[in-house]
Formats: sequence, structure tokens, C-alpha cells
Amino acid sequence: MTGKLLTVEGLTAGYGAAPVLHDVDLTVHQGEIVAVLGANGAGKTTLLRTLSGLVTATAGRIALDGQDLRGVRVERMVHRGIAHVPEGRGVVTELTVDENLRLGGLWRRDRADARRALDEVYQLFPVLAQRRDGAGHQLSGGERQMLALGRALVGRPRLLLLDEPSLGLAPRITAQILALLRDLRDRTGLAVLLVEQNVRSALSVADRGVVLSLGHVVTRNTAADLRDDTALRHAYLGF
Ligand code: ATP
Repeated sequence: MTGKLLTVEGLTAGYGAAPVLHDVDLTVHQGEIVAVLGANGAGKTTLLRTLSGLVTATAGRIALDGQDLRGVRVERMVHRGIAHVPEGRGVVTELTVDENLRLGGLWRRDRADARRALDEVYQLFPVLAQRRDGAGHQLSGGERQMLALGRALVGRPRLLLLDEPSLGLAPRITAQILALLRDLRDRTGLAVLLVEQNVRSALSVADRGVVLSLGHVVTRNTAADLRDDTALRHAYLGF
């Protein structure tokens, strides 16, 4: 693990007059997976949406490598190295697998590296290579999740914001995706902010975790310590 990549300080954000997130502080280092945990409605999705510019922060600071991200337009976030894979996956079902993946690298000036990144994604997900010319709507839930993740990776992000990757997936596929994240972290220094309902799975792959309750950070710790904290698990994590 090296320096701080993402720094969030005093972040307040929401959809109307009343904020959903209150004074959130958070750090993600390069090569680190940080799980964002908490009950339904705690503000996990809102946090990711605020970091990627979809929800406007009303106070606080968001910086990537010390560069301010507040006010950066959502479509420019990817240029700064942030890729957001939303819940529900956002695959364009009318396009082929290959077209969906190429969308992830369209903005890149380094065309040669964009092609390399595409090849790497096909190596990471052989099932996508097999279905290269098939339409998005023909894919299973697990394949769509891989496609959404693959499309994000084609942009060579430094920080991946990943919302509920296990939603609707068989445990075997979830385990495969989480193992892949760990591998990318170790091999490429990818940093991940992971929102995941399945707390056990999330803590099995994360280095650290933060727990949100009603939009406040109630605790932060290493994944191992969060797993061992029975009182906290009962109070906020439901197991
Ligand atoms: P879940 O696991 O259910 O997705 P979450 O922790 O991700 O929960 P959010 O989806 O961020 O929580 O929701 C936090 C709060 O913000 C909730 O009270 C929710 O009703 C509210 N909220 C979410 N999206 C919107 C929206 N588009 N407009 C208004 N309020 C919203």
C-alpha cells in the first residue's frame, strides 16, 4: 500500500433540502480495497454517486491525488481515473459485448493502450470473449456484471467505485468477481471503494471498512477487526 489516493473530508450531500450524507471523512490508498457497509438507506449508494459527480456535494472536500474533484463534470471523472459501476450495472443492452467494452475506452487518446486494455479484459473474462458479438440483452446477470466491470476496466481507472456487484448473482460468480478485484489490487495497484450488502463477502476481500448509519460514519477499521467486532456487527451489520 502506498500514498493516499482518495481523500474525502467533511462531505455533506443529498437530493433535496435535508442531506443524506453528513460530514463524511474517508481515505482510500492506492492498492487498497475499502468496503462501505451499513443498513439499507444508510447512504452507501449516495456516497458513490457523490464521489462520481452524479449527486452534488453541498459541503466538504473530495480530492484524488490531492486534486480537487468537486465540480468536475460526471463525464470527465473517467479522465481523472475514477470509474463508477452502478448498482443495476448500466450495460447498453442494444449494443454487442464488444461495443459495450469499447465504450469504456472511447475517450482515451492512447489508442494502442485502449486496445491492450480491451484484450486484457477479454483475458480476464473469457466468457465475454466467447460472446463478443452477442447483444447485451442476451447475457445472464453474472455476465452483465462482468461486462459492466470490464467496461470500467478498459478505461484503466485508478479508483473503482463499485456498487453491489453481487446483486442477483450466484455465490460462485460473486466469489469470482471479488477474487478478481483482489488480483487487480495486487497486480496493478487498483483501488476500490466497494459497496456490498453481503458484508461477509465484502470483509473477506477488503483491507478496511467504514460503516455508515443514517449518513454518518459510525466506525472505521481494518476488515479483520470489523469481522471480529460482534457488538458492531449486531448493531449495524445484521449478523
Ligand atoms: P440501499 O442498500 O438500500 O441501496 P444505501 O445505503 O445505498 O441503501 P442510499 O440509496 O444512498 O442508501 O439512500 C440513502 C437515503 O437517500 C435514503 O433515505 C433514500 O431514501 C434517499 N434517496 C436515495 N436516492 C434518492 C433520490 N434519488 N432522491 C431522493 N432521495 C433519495
